[in-house]
Amino acid sequence: MTEETLSFQAEVARLLNIVVHSLYSEKEIFLRELISNASDACDRLRYQALTEPGLLAEEPELRLRIRLDNGARTITVADNGIGMNRAELIENLGTIARSGTTAFLGQLSGDKAKDLPLIGQFGVGFYSAFMVAERVEVFSRKAGEAQGWRWSSEGSGDFTIGEAADVARGTRIVLHLRADAEEYLERSRIEHIVKTYSDHIGLPILLAEGAEGALTAINSGAALWTRPRAGVSAEQYREFYHHAAHAFDEPWASLH
Ligand code: ADP
Ligand code: MG
Repeated sequence: MTEETLSFQAEVARLLNIVVHSLYSEKEIFLRELISNASDACDRLRYQALTEPGLLAEEPELRLRIRLDNGARTITVADNGIGMNRAELIENLGTIARSGTTAFLGQLSGDKAKDLPLIGQFGVGFYSAFMVAERVEVFSRKAGEAQGWRWSSEGSGDFTIGEAADVARGTRIVLHLRADAEEYLERSRIEHIVKTYSDHIGLPILLAEGAEGALTAINSGAALWTRPRAGVSAEQYREFYHHAAHAFDEPWASLH
């Protein structure tokens, strides 16, 4: 199978350089960003399936899966949402289409102390995976299409893309962890991160350890507004606002 090597757009290469070499302390937000994308991908498929129900056929229940593999030192985040074809992988993961990332780059001063906190404030989306991973592999197959693809990068200048066999509908992201990021192989750590940043996600998030480990749900899987107000923290309201509004500022107020 042929694999091609392509270059990142210059702005992406610049962003990746900052992300990879940053000493940003809250690297755990990578998981929030990947879960947010996976959830968006499921929402998009659900919406498209309103007019094309056949798209959901092979796997009607939308869900997110996280798998921790201590042996391989990988974290895998998989969704069965809309997926991406070759052109979309190149466009979406190789160029900057995103307002938040452009805003991040626009705010950079060149002074590390001032620039680092911006990673957390604006979020660097998918690219935050490179804060914890020395190599990121993305397997994806678009709903309604037969061919799957593998995208892979070490976050420096270029990425490869090629055909892949047996890819399930949606997107599976494999993070090959850096030596200093092995703490994210701990189940309790992952559960805590998901509770903190992603508990508003209204889809099941299932976690498993090892290739064969059983999947168990680690989020409430219920929308915030269907829960008692007393069970929702200020941080959860804030994360929900950021996710739903694609915004990076503080909400003015919250009304339950
Ligand atoms: P944003 O989510 O703000 O658009 P990201 O950097 O997080 O920015 O992601 C870039 C783009 O890559 C997304 O807009 C989406 O088109 C695509 N993408 C990322 N992850 C997935 C996924 N799991 N499934 C489908 N598309 C994805
Ligand atoms: Mg995103």
